[in-house]
Amino acid sequence: LSCCPSGIPGIQERTLVAVKPDGVQRRLVGDVIKRFERRGFKLVGMKLLQANEGILAEHYHELRRKPFYPALIHYMTSGPVVAMVWEGYNVVRTSRAMVGDTDSAEAKPGTIRGDFSIHVSRNVVHASDSVEMAQREINLWFHSSELVDWDCCDYSNTYQL
Ligand code: UDP
Repeated sequence: LSCCPSGIPGIQERTLVAVKPDGVQRRLVGDVIKRFERRGFKLVGMKLLQANEGILAEHYHELRRKPFYPALIHYMTSGPVVAMVWEGYNVVRTSRAMVGDTDSAEAKPGTIRGDFSIHVSRNVVHASDSVEMAQREINLWFHSSELVDWDCCDYSNTYQL
């Protein structure tokens, strides 16, 4: 029985998840981590940092002309964020489902935003919205030396080996 079944297609997909400043201030970091751990995903990178405008300008490049952009940058620089990289089968799509709708008012109960937030401007968490964006965002937020390759000892409870 293999301990590191990297032969299973798709299980090395990765995504960037970040607890935003409101989530850190509200002590929701542990709750966010717990949800990803319990789902079965593998944590391969994590750090607490004060994001600067440079990294956020890259991260939210596509939104730079939106009316809410200045307020978004102000919010995202208002305190530390916890950036994480999670790995596993279909993690990009599943993370988006776990995070819930961008607009907290539309986010379903049971999702992170649906359980912990009310308004789009303070929606607690970020998760990459495509595999390509995930790769870009992971490269932006993490140096490759900050990501750890490790083997889960109980993969047979997560995947059919
Ligand atoms: N945002 C906002 N007002 C809006 C739309 C978005 O403040 O009307 C913020 C919100 O924090 C959101 C972020 O901008 O999470 C990025 O928006 P995007 O559409 O990429 O949503 P996400 O991928 O975060 O669900």
